[in-house]
Amino acid sequence: MAGLLDTITKTQKPRVHKYTRELLERAEREYGEDSGPYRGIYNQYFRMPSTMPSIGQSTRHFDALMHDDFPEGLERLYRRVVVIDMLSACASECVFCVRGLYNPHTLGKDQMTAIGEYLKKDAYLREILITGGDPLISPRKLDQLLTTVAEYAPNITTVRMGSRLPVQNPTAFTADTYAVFEKFADRFHFDISLQINHWYELQPEAVDVLQKLQDLGARLYSQNVLLKGVNDDIETLIELYDRQRTLRFIPHYLFHAVPMVGTDEFRTSVHRGLELARELSTSGFLSGLAKPKYTVMTDIGKVTLYDGTILGKNGHELTLRTSYRLEDRLRWNPGYQLPASATPNEHGTLDVVYIDGED
Ligand code: SF4
Repeated sequence: MAGLLDTITKTQKPRVHKYTRELLERAEREYGEDSGPYRGIYNQYFRMPSTMPSIGQSTRHFDALMHDDFPEGLERLYRRVVVIDMLSACASECVFCVRGLYNPHTLGKDQMTAIGEYLKKDAYLREILITGGDPLISPRKLDQLLTTVAEYAPNITTVRMGSRLPVQNPTAFTADTYAVFEKFADRFHFDISLQINHWYELQPEAVDVLQKLQDLGARLYSQNVLLKGVNDDIETLIELYDRQRTLRFIPHYLFHAVPMVGTDEFRTSVHRGLELARELSTSGFLSGLAKPKYTVMTDIGKVTLYDGTILGKNGHELTLRTSYRLEDRLRWNPGYQLPASATPNEHGTLDVVYIDGED
């Protein structure tokens, strides 16, 4: 369940599904403890967050969105899409989770109705991104939410979902899960964002689930996180993106790990990520259709790093130039409050401070 970062930091005990534990054992049997596949699983779920004071101090991502004007469970940063935080349950707790310190929650029927009412009134909106937690863990809740959105909001045509369930516990996918996709196949386009951080997670049973979802019309895209000791070497990244290409994933983002409190040891420097992203793009080992955009998740939204994005560095603070504008945010979300890390610049766009990691 996302939201247990505090608990696992205090207890120093992992919270994982039996499948994830068995996957670690399988990696040990097949490759040994001193191998990339073993470390790739171990370091995502079994290496405990630090209890020492850390450089990363975030306790939520997108703090600026927590105000009273919005229905509970909604986040709004961009023009076309809102994020719906449906429930906090996940099969296994990732120790670097950006939602690791959120309170446990599940949307009720009244909250879903309030969201449906909000969606239908906003002429900008076309998409919803359902996240949590892992929305695929509860086909019943997902069905309830999609039924509400289908009924209230004809403007919503695309449903995106963020999930790790196919690699955390593929046995959770039952006829009930697939029935939701069948039921709404003519109403919504489905895109599923998969966070798979090591190629070893793509076991045959996980691949089977992914192919069934594709057969039902869902497009799969990847949002991988760069993690120290998991995938911060070029060979692992090439293998991961190559396998995702074989499975017809759209390679969306390779994220720098967010500066969540207690997770310094999971974070490389932004610079190290840039080196790896450059190697990925120019090695000749990957199809062009397999290459991700290297991106950091700041307090004002995602920032893909291009020439001129990094304005400077002071200690651990990187200042990044964006093309986000405060007036756009306020148009789409009148209650939007600029976070302390962001400043309007002389071009009328926003600069934002992002906390770097260390190699
Ligand atoms: S599956 Fe996603 S939401 Fe759940 S703990 Fe992992 S990163 Fe967080």
